[in-house]
Amino acid sequence: MSLDGAYDDGNIFAKIVRGEIPSVTVWEDDQVLAFMDVFPQSKGHVLVISKTSKARNLLDAEAKTLGRLIGAVQKTARAVRAALKPDGLVVTQFNGAPAGQTVFHLHFHIIPRWDGVPLGRHGEGMADTDALKALAAQIADRLER
Ligand code: 5GP
Repeated sequence: MSLDGAYDDGNIFAKIVRGEIPSVTVWEDDQVLAFMDVFPQSKGHVLVISKTSKARNLLDAEAKTLGRLIGAVQKTARAVRAALKPDGLVVTQFNGAPAGQTVFHLHFHIIPRWDGVPLGRHGEGMADTDALKALAAQIADRLER
């Protein structure tokens, strides 16, 4: 899908927001959901999305949505750091299929990195749900109140 086009209510993240398919939540409020990537590129790979916006990508998004999202990304990244003690943290966001986007509901990736540990391939290898739940609980426990 190119940068142009209509938002598809049937995309997988829209289904997660509606509770139609399961996901492992780290935290949420009325606007934002942070949940574990089921094909993680590293231990503790978290996705942050808006629960209300129909933006497909960064270019579509309303300024208010972006403000809420980036604040949520920082809050989540701080908790990931506190919980998992990575040596670094990658925050990524893809716009359009040629740029690597596969789910067309705006989202940010938070990917912890450790020295000497190579990054897994994007969207490869499904994680064990119990392992994701344990990581989500560890991260949620370190959220700033
Ligand atoms: P994109 O390539 O669009 O930036 O990222 C989409 C991300 O969604 C990928 O990292 C992929 O692993 C993740 N993903 C795809 N399907 C699901 C799913 O059903 N549940 C969860 N939690 N993550 C998913």
